[in-house]
Amino acid sequence: MTVFSHREFDGHERVVFAQDAESGLKAILAVHNTNRGPALGGCRFWSYASDEEALTDVLRLSRGMTYKSALAGLPLGGGKSVVIGDARALRRDPARREALFRALGRAVEQLGGLYTAAEDVGTSVADLELVGRETRHVAGVAAGQVGDPSPYTAYGVFRGLQAAVKHRLGRDDLKGLSVAVQGLGHVGQGLCEQLSEAGAKLIVADLEEERVAETVRRFGARAADPETILASDCDVVAPCALGAVLNDDSIAALKATVVAGAANNQLAEPRHGEALRRKGVLYAPDYLINAGGIIVIAYEAGRRGPRFERAQAMAHIDRIYDTGLEIFARAEREGVATSTAADRLAEERFRRRDRAEAA
Ligand code: NAD
Repeated sequence: MTVFSHREFDGHERVVFAQDAESGLKAILAVHNTNRGPALGGCRFWSYASDEEALTDVLRLSRGMTYKSALAGLPLGGGKSVVIGDARALRRDPARREALFRALGRAVEQLGGLYTAAEDVGTSVADLELVGRETRHVAGVAAGQVGDPSPYTAYGVFRGLQAAVKHRLGRDDLKGLSVAVQGLGHVGQGLCEQLSEAGAKLIVADLEEERVAETVRRFGARAADPETILASDCDVVAPCALGAVLNDDSIAALKATVVAGAANNQLAEPRHGEALRRKGVLYAPDYLINAGGIIVIAYEAGRRGPRFERAQAMAHIDRIYDTGLEIFARAEREGVATSTAADRLAEERFRRRDRAEAA
């Protein structure tokens, strides 16, 4: 397995393989680009089927973080780490868990601040606290601060959805618009609350019946089948569950003219961005509108000032609306998919070694 010729390698600045015999740690830390500032990104704990699969994931995810932070206007680069292992087995062995996350902390520390680790799939605040015993380059663990970033993510998705409605439907408000929300988890619930307050009519689906029942009760939403909700007869669909939901079949079946949701990597393949454009559907790029969480973590990690100021972080998340309008206008001007316009804007921002611009 080589890194430089790997299909997901994209000029990553640093890729570190960390191993610790005592704790059994096997991790890969990847820093994609730090032109805008030090890299910030989650630490994922996953039982990868192979080392190759872990490498593919960390290269792809770290690159994604560069794009996300650049588009969010943060003075940060992109990085990510993955730990290969069985998270559930580790939970049953607290001593080994502590040894493992501390070993990971030492690996982060050796990068000297080039990469700051945060929570991700398979890791918890408690795990990150163990990492933090070995390095100060860890985010999202300070007591009494942000906590769960999901409400901030939900707010950013709401603002991105508003921008998409403004551009595609020419409307400043959401009154009476029907919005189909797939997935009523941490972000989906928060989004439903804001949409309901703004006067939208909700159609909702989740695999957990309890969550559906609660949303129906709280907001007078209409329940739909999780399999077919994206094909609902509505104005907007908001995928807030899984990735890769926008594929040939689901795009063909879409009746909504706006797609704006929280789920990561909604396009099954990059070409589906163009497929949406051709169909006349305005797609709000996922990594633009779900950046509320990373924005608030960046504020908390002290990247935007000495103290976490909620009002400042919220004002920053608000900018997702303007960036959305900028991307939609650019996509139209250049005759490209909104996903392509978003990538172009991000690349312009991080390919320059210009940190002043990032501030
Ligand atoms: P979550 O796990 O709390 O909620 C996901 C919900 O989707 C669950 O209720 C689950 O039952 C439901 N679900 C799963 N498969 C489904 C299906 N086929 N149809 C309908 N519902 C289904 O996750 P979350 O934190 O709310 O995140 C939602 C999405 O947003 C994820 O893709 C996540 O990666 C992305 N995201 C979240 C954040 C954040 O701050 N939480 C930030 C950026 C991106």
